[in-house]
Amino acid sequence: MEQLTLIGPLNQVIPMTGISLKGAVSDSQLKIIENAGILFVGGLIKIVDSYKKLEAEVKDQDVKLIRLEGNHICLPGFIDSHTHICFGGSRARDYAMRNAGKTYLEIAEEGGGIWDTVQQTRKATKKELIKGIIKRAKQHLKNGVTTIEVKTGYGLSVKEELKMLHAIKEADEEFPLDFVSTCLAAHMLPRDFKGNSSEYLSEISEKLFPIIKKEKLSNRVDAFIEKGAFNESEIAPYLSKAIEMGFDITIHADQFSVGGSEVAVKFNAVSADHLEASTSHEIELLAKSDVISTALPGASLGLGCSFTPARKILDAGGSLAIASDHNPGSAPMGDLLTQSAILGTMQKLTNAEVLAGITFRAAAALKLTDRGKLKAGYLADFNLFHTANFNEILYNQGAFKPCMVYKKGNLIYNKHNS
Ligand SMILES: [Zn+2]
Repeated sequence: MEQLTLIGPLNQVIPMTGISLKGAVSDSQLKIIENAGILFVGGLIKIVDSYKKLEAEVKDQDVKLIRLEGNHICLPGFIDSHTHICFGGSRARDYAMRNAGKTYLEIAEEGGGIWDTVQQTRKATKKELIKGIIKRAKQHLKNGVTTIEVKTGYGLSVKEELKMLHAIKEADEEFPLDFVSTCLAAHMLPRDFKGNSSEYLSEISEKLFPIIKKEKLSNRVDAFIEKGAFNESEIAPYLSKAIEMGFDITIHADQFSVGGSEVAVKFNAVSADHLEASTSHEIELLAKSDVISTALPGASLGLGCSFTPARKILDAGGSLAIASDHNPGSAPMGDLLTQSAILGTMQKLTNAEVLAGITFRAAAALKLTDRGKLKAGYLADFNLFHTANFNEILYNQGAFKPCMVYKKGNLIYNKHNS
């Protein structure tokens, strides 16, 4: 769409500019442009400024005007940098067993856990997986998410991981959100693999990685470092190989026990996600590095565990993204706004810190430099909320959703029409 377009007037535009990538942020650091408009063309933002000024500026040009009635505020499209929304089946049985007091191990022994989802996902056709991804992505769109990361990790063989990667790619082509895929073949050692963890990982890196590269299916590799998943010595050669082949690294780190974040720092990962178990040692390490720490409050809610020490990470000078971890086991809610608001309350985060965590800091966790802020040259991905004051959004604990969502300058969701 090459049409020059002006949208407004907006009571407030929160461009999320002028805030550093790392460290604590006070609400007074949030830039607010009052009575603003956004001028965009070709899917990119041209100018964010006073509506009156922009109106005068485009007066003699061929411009499409989207004149808004009533109160509206505008924020960048949200970025969910960690999800597992490509899967088959349900784990409702795990939820019941967990709340009835069964341990992780007992649930796995009774046929639950990740392996259950692996079997359901393997049974599903690619078409069924695509349908599931889009169904869940629609829910994220209603929350104002315009870019979503999606991991594999329920295939756990070369063939089945490829099926997942193709499903994610085709969902991306079919649905207007941007999907960023990540290979999480290192989710767990598949029970039907004849060999040990190291043998499994070398098979994946030797056989799957080259195909992913050749078919351009992903440029990200994730690994679950945890007791019962993979340890540092098993994962090191796997990550080295991935880096050698040009993949970006991200790590499921310190969820129940520490160790993962040290690996993330050592291998220069773009992000270390979870961190519920991180102590001051890990927090210091992360804060000194360029690794983005990602909090996943949905998993804490799902498992009844402690939250990521987000306040401490920010105070130590680290960068914090917040993601939904939407997955069938521990985080089936998939509601980024609600979870971010809850994390904000539980960890005493400022509104500015929470909003940074689901916009430009989340973009950095995906190494995306063209979104997460409203400024010239960035994607025209933005959310409109029916209110005069942006503080209403998180205050309403996720119950207050955007009324309109724009992706690359196109209206892709309108609450009034759905
Ligand atoms: Zn995860």
